[in-house]
Amino acid sequence: MKRVRFAPSPTGYLHLGNARTALFNYLYARHENGKFILRIEDTDLERSKKEYEEMLIEDLKWLGIEWDEGPDKGGEHGPYRQSERLEIYAKYVDKLLKSGDAYFCYCTEEELEAEREKAIKEGRPYRYSGKCRNLTPEERMDYEVKGIKPVIRFKVPDGEVVAFEDLIKGHIEINVNEFGDFVIVRQDGMPVYNFVVVIDDALMGITHVIRGEDHLANTPKQILIYKALGFETPKFAHMPMILGEDRTKLSKRHGATSVRALKDEGYMPEAVFNYLSLLGWHPKDEKEILSKEEIIKQFRIEDVNKSPAIFDRTKLRWM
Ligand code: GLU
Repeated sequence: MKRVRFAPSPTGYLHLGNARTALFNYLYARHENGKFILRIEDTDLERSKKEYEEMLIEDLKWLGIEWDEGPDKGGEHGPYRQSERLEIYAKYVDKLLKSGDAYFCYCTEEELEAEREKAIKEGRPYRYSGKCRNLTPEERMDYEVKGIKPVIRFKVPDGEVVAFEDLIKGHIEINVNEFGDFVIVRQDGMPVYNFVVVIDDALMGITHVIRGEDHLANTPKQILIYKALGFETPKFAHMPMILGEDRTKLSKRHGATSVRALKDEGYMPEAVFNYLSLLGWHPKDEKEILSKEEIIKQFRIEDVNKSPAIFDRTKLRWM
């Protein structure tokens, strides 16, 4: 059974780019008779807001994108929420610490800054030196006594090349030396996106991760975590960006770029659904007005374009 998810961070309105990600996941699940999951990624406590989460859910419902499962909230299944799953993540952090795939790092902001400056001077890309990789228990104790709070880093195997076949982009290969040991738990004890996304996708049995290409650079980090924890790696499909008509990244300058703004302008949900589906995908017969059922029937991830989609409002019909 194919299982996909939409995993928004509630840090703003449902942007058209994210709405398209939600839609393509939904279409894929419906076409394949699979399951579509909604997961709210709210471990960034400073930026996540409950109001945004409520609006996201409202906007998805307005578009007609329903999700299939989640914790029972009085008859209706709510979305999964990462802030409600912290104990689960803590277990897996422990596992990585025990296996030696993760370690405590006490480097201060100043020390890291000095490392960064050195890299710039030497004309090489910055990556963490790995200074805290092999601290003795005594050295750790010293830091603890001084009250320095550590982060937890994932130990990246030196020089490994991570390769995968992206369903849209094709063969991708990245040398892990490009990023080095990365943080998986912040100083405040909260686990970060690259870590929790893997735990959730693995435990929720996600078979296909369909998301924007802005996450492409995160994927090798995530694959390393899948491997370290012995989880099966899902398939990945990274969708090209949506650009404005002037071919620059879609932003406020291009007018209404959120689902809510289009709704407020009076567009019908069916029209927005139809229009979003054609942002980077097209049916075989090139028809432009399609019902939800027709789109579901024809949608294939392999038919998503490799080049960016252009947001052209003149094509957004009123009815
Ligand atoms: N919370 C991430 C975002 O909103 C999800 C990325 C992903 O799909 O893995 O960008």
